[in-house]
Amino acid sequence: LPEQVDVLVIGAGAAGLMCAAVAGQRGRSVLVLDHANKVGKKILMSGGGRCNFTNLYTGPENFYSENSHFCKSALARYTQWDFIALVEKHGIPYHEKTLGQLFCDNKSKDIVDLLLAECRDARVQIRTRCSIEAVVPLDSGYRVESSLGRVQCESLVVATGGLSIPTMGASGFGYDIARQFGLNIVPTRAALVPFTLHGRQLERQQELPGSALPVTASCGEGSFHEQMLFTHRGLSGPAVLQVSSHWREGEAVTFDLAPDRELAQWLNQQRAEKPEAHLHTILASLWSRKLAQHFLAERNIESRPLKQFSPAELATIGEELQTWRLVPAGTEGYRTAEVTLGGVDTDAVSSRTMECKSQPGLYFIGEVLDVTGWLGGYNFQWAWASGHAAGEVV
Ligand code: FAD
Repeated sequence: LPEQVDVLVIGAGAAGLMCAAVAGQRGRSVLVLDHANKVGKKILMSGGGRCNFTNLYTGPENFYSENSHFCKSALARYTQWDFIALVEKHGIPYHEKTLGQLFCDNKSKDIVDLLLAECRDARVQIRTRCSIEAVVPLDSGYRVESSLGRVQCESLVVATGGLSIPTMGASGFGYDIARQFGLNIVPTRAALVPFTLHGRQLERQQELPGSALPVTASCGEGSFHEQMLFTHRGLSGPAVLQVSSHWREGEAVTFDLAPDRELAQWLNQQRAEKPEAHLHTILASLWSRKLAQHFLAERNIESRPLKQFSPAELATIGEELQTWRLVPAGTEGYRTAEVTLGGVDTDAVSSRTMECKSQPGLYFIGEVLDVTGWLGGYNFQWAWASGHAAGEVV
């Protein structure tokens, strides 16, 4: 390792590599250290291997934080359009999948290669398989002891991410450093994570894993109209991942199983047009036969020809299917969560520069901070924007 650098970045993920490239391009000498065997592992596994690298509609309203204003400055100064321009500069083909979500046409590796090329142009040094043993504040700057040796820096950037997917190198290191310097940590929680069910709830959906349907999933202030997927352990799919960020242990989640229509009215219309048709056959035209039977069984509703239900009964069935309440047993936790809610309290950090207010020269960027995006490319946009903000000043 060099004895002294201007900027030392801990964590060669999305935020760390962006920050390193920007600082290097300003002429700063930059070293990035990571304990994993290769850089950008979460980028590589993201978006099902195609990296949902940003969202066309990114705005501060797509983020959770104790301080909802904190993310505004960085997001406004490095926008989705800036990152898209970088992707285009590198000739990476991409497409919009849905809801403004931009994915690589080919592989997530294209984004890692982009970051590495930017770092190379900026003469950034990157070392992997390096564990950090201690961070020591000096009169000016910091000394870092690592398994590869000792290095001093003027600016120290903590970009070690959240707790999700420990097998990919996630660690609580960033929070430990924050605590070392007396900063508060907003309690952390797995988010963008599937729900688990247990006992009879799970038994009843034995036939369903793999089945999906569009729903509106609601919990607390969150309400998301996207797909829900039945799994062997419970429920997943974008609607469930999104609403998991609002869910607390013991709470119920409400699903509108037919979000695109007024079911009470629709069922009565069907009754008038097809009085002989069975309720489950009619509902199977909305979902699959298996799903229709499942939802009716869940509510103990016996399927009969529609004419045998009164209009009021059908209206009640319609309403029940649009307010399907379920109390998940839990979530799959950090093992499969895409992100971590909570983290380093933003009160302690400048929203313009990401520098710690009480500790000059110490910066926190990316997911380690208490800023968490929705599903859909927002988390990477936060990594790019916060990394860029720090990169311009370190
Ligand atoms: P990371 O990218 O996690 O980087 C942190 C780095 O720090 C890692 O390289 C890690 O090895 C290193 N590190 C950790 N601890 C230490 C330590 N003690 N010492 C040294 N180094 C350390 N977001 C999206 O916007 N779109 C997606 O498509 C998407 N898909 C995802 C899919 C999965 C399966 C997962 C888990 C997440 C996904 N996310 C997605 C979220 C996104 O990956 C993260 O929000 C983003 O990577 C955070 O960037 P970061 O730089 O803060 O942290």
